[in-house]
Amino acid sequence: MEHYDIAVIGSGPGGYVAAIRSAQLGYKTVIIEKYDTLGGTCTNVGCIPTKALLDSTHHYAEAEHQFNEHGIKLDKIELDFSQMYRRKAEVVSKNTGGLNFLMNKNNITRLKGTAGFVNNSTLKIVNESETKQLTAKYYIIATGSKPSSIPGVEIDKKRIITSTEALSLQEKPESMVIIGGGVIGVEMASIFNRIGTKVTILEYADHLIATMDHELGKNLQKILKKEGIDIRLNQAVYRTENVDSGAKVFFKDKNGAEGELDAEYILVAVGRSPYVKGLGLENTDVQLDERGFIKVDENRRTSASHIYAIGDVIGGAMLAHKAEEEGVFVAETINGQKRHIHYNRIPSVVYTWPEVASVGYTEEYLKKNNITYNIGKFPFSASARARASMDMEGFAKVLVDPKYGEVLGVHIIGARAADLIAQGVIAQEYEVTAEDMFRISYAHPTYSETLKEAYLIASGQGAINI
Ligand code: FAD
Ligand code: NAD
Repeated sequence: MEHYDIAVIGSGPGGYVAAIRSAQLGYKTVIIEKYDTLGGTCTNVGCIPTKALLDSTHHYAEAEHQFNEHGIKLDKIELDFSQMYRRKAEVVSKNTGGLNFLMNKNNITRLKGTAGFVNNSTLKIVNESETKQLTAKYYIIATGSKPSSIPGVEIDKKRIITSTEALSLQEKPESMVIIGGGVIGVEMASIFNRIGTKVTILEYADHLIATMDHELGKNLQKILKKEGIDIRLNQAVYRTENVDSGAKVFFKDKNGAEGELDAEYILVAVGRSPYVKGLGLENTDVQLDERGFIKVDENRRTSASHIYAIGDVIGGAMLAHKAEEEGVFVAETINGQKRHIHYNRIPSVVYTWPEVASVGYTEEYLKKNNITYNIGKFPFSASARARASMDMEGFAKVLVDPKYGEVLGVHIIGARAADLIAQGVIAQEYEVTAEDMFRISYAHPTYSETLKEAYLIASGQGAINI
């Protein structure tokens, strides 16, 4: 039986980063993945393919709605849906190819199959052609998550689908109802609405992207509505059924008023659940919490002291970069290093257009906890760069401690917010003050100046530029 220093189960952003860092630190490392390609949800059916389609459809929408004003005349704009999806598949394949390269470069053994614990110290790997066993000094579980559903809604993967099936459709859908106005809901709604699908979002909460600062969701709602997405808030979906060449969805609002809609597809985007099927945890000391996540301590160590767990399967923010941080954390912790992750400084990004990005405390959190703060808010419509590019929707908002100037939260909806948020992370991670942030030079004209202006306003000075 082969013996390794570290065996990583699952090759998503948690697993592949944990394996690479382990190998870099000199450990004999094996990674086991049940699918043919490495990369997990994020690379194969999550972050990467959605961003590829969001980019393609954004170009399409610009060609349809903005090129004319830029002085670019096109005779006819035509959608080649198959080519759009083919390009998406190529982007995914380049990324999974990159991971193969990294595994080889770092001398990481790669095994294909479903890994399950036989007992606390032995792993069995089963694939179509063989079963083998191995042992390791340490195990890192990074088996991720799968889409959740709600009572009364059965995902048949044909008409009642999840994001995974939506990423491999053969033809442009004519209509789609999306259950859930969270991150997947609004990203998927953007993709399909831009290419002419009639999209309706049914959301239980009273605003979109409910876990982020509420002002962001409210602003995003206005923008998406203007683009033609039918957004219905305060609606609890309780049943779906298949009908001829489509499906039906039933919902009611908080006063009990009933509604129903027919669509070619119903996309269920109501969150994701931890994935531990086939892991054989019942043969180990590893314990789950009441929601099915693997229980870990502050070192991401499970109830079995040599088995760690990271990423979506342990809960918290279900984000690729959170899983990556934990992958590095665990490899370095095994190596005896003292590490810390500031979960409040992990940014969240929604890749609609404009993008939405956030780090730190929301206004709702500060209010609820009686923490005083100053607000600096600057609209993109007042940015010269935004005017030049016709991307004038949104704002940058910073929340700052009134006494010491500590940056408590940065919330942006606007062009390139996904990249701008990095400076908010730096400001918070290194406890840079709002004054420090406005006294540095920002290139003109750039979207980043909206943040400089927001910091100036939060510090009691007026805006100084346009
Ligand atoms: P996963 O990526 O889920 O990987 C787990 C892997 O383990 C899988 O490959 C699985 O096959 C394998 N596995 C499971 N059980 C076994 C077993 N017993 N044996 C062997 N292998 C096993 N996050 C972002 O930060 N940015 C985004 O833009 C973003 N977009 C997303 C879009 C969509 C549509 C979805 C669904 C998710 C998106 N996410 C995004 C979330 C992100 O994909 C996850 O947070 C991330 O993939 C979690 O990484 P992980 O390593 O924990 O697990
Ligand atoms: P989510 O938790 O973001 O949103 C689910 C939404 O469904 C919530 O707003 C909830 O109120 C609503 N809902 C639940 N039950 C409902 C019902 N019966 N009727 C109507 N609405 C209902 O989950 P998601 O959008 O499925 O995304 C799953 C995970 O994937 C998220 O945790 C997210 O972090 C991750 N993800 C991240 C990105 C990104 O980083 N850009 C993109 C996609 C997914």
